[in-house]
Amino acid sequence: MSRVFSGIQPSGELHIGNYVGAVSEWARLMDEGHECYYCIVDYHAMTQPYDPEIMEKRVLEMAAGLMAAGIDPERAVLFVQSQVPEHTELAWMLMTVTPMGELSRQTQYKDKARRQEGNVNVGLFAYPVLQAADILLYKGELVPVGEDQRQHLELAREIVRKFRSRFGYEFPEPQPRFGRIKRLKGLDGRDKMSKSLGNTITLTETEDQRWEKLRTAFTDPARVRKSDPGHPEICNIYTMHTFFTPEEEREEIAGACRKGEIGCFECKKRLNARMTEHLAPIQDRYADLLKNISDIRDILRQGGKRARAVAQETVKEVRSAAGLIDLEGR
Ligand code: ADP
Repeated sequence: MSRVFSGIQPSGELHIGNYVGAVSEWARLMDEGHECYYCIVDYHAMTQPYDPEIMEKRVLEMAAGLMAAGIDPERAVLFVQSQVPEHTELAWMLMTVTPMGELSRQTQYKDKARRQEGNVNVGLFAYPVLQAADILLYKGELVPVGEDQRQHLELAREIVRKFRSRFGYEFPEPQPRFGRIKRLKGLDGRDKMSKSLGNTITLTETEDQRWEKLRTAFTDPARVRKSDPGHPEICNIYTMHTFFTPEEEREEIAGACRKGEIGCFECKKRLNARMTEHLAPIQDRYADLLKNISDIRDILRQGGKRARAVAQETVKEVRSAAGLIDLEGR
């Protein structure tokens, strides 16, 4: 069994990209009996423009969304990053071994810097170091994430090696674990589905709301008329079928699409029906959980305490390895 860590920003609603790429895998690893730490990373969310008035609500809704999607706070430690100040403390120590050059080569940083031109803050630049600290505080070995995080994890391993050679302290080198769909594209069929790009289907939309989006969603770029042979392997709608539709039906759809026997409209209708089947129980649980906000707060408070106990142990070891003076038995 391994130590598992992953995080998600409370920067908007959970969408199906988060779900198929990461969160469904979080639940699976928990079900397999690994020791799992799942964190709502609000310090990370501060690097993007946001409204402080609604941050708390977003954190609570994200916690409800994660639990509805299968995270059981009895079997995984579910907590909020800002409740464990050791995240920023370790991040600082890791920064002292992280090369600027590596950070400036991170594609997520370059993308985000382009998108929020007027607000290229140091937090955005140092984001991957805080992420490394998140994982290493819990000595995480497996990190269930989408493909977009591959480069950040490579950097985290580099930081582990640099820290070892500088201070002789041994963190495990964390490995990514990708979900069933590593990188789901958005409705535009081009960019990654992402909260900040507005090209998402959220976990809580109704069948009708979803249909409004699916109806005009991009499909197979090489197909113009219904009778043209389709190419499921390059169609984003078909990619979604690979998660939501059982194999036999999916094969049948792929075969009919290749022969030009079914059109994109029908393919989308069938996807929407399968999504409803899969998501309806999640939506019911979500609505139930939100009826009791004080329970969610309690769960997060407990999770924070459990996480902090582990984090404090790690920081103590690291402070000692770095030769920091200890005046209060910290
Ligand atoms: P977003 O990109 O929507 O802001 P986060 O950065 O909070 O989402 O990512 C949370 C998790 O979901 C990460 O592990 C990330 O890799 C994964 N993820 C996000 N979008 C996708 C996607 N389109 N396909 C697969 N995984 C994704």
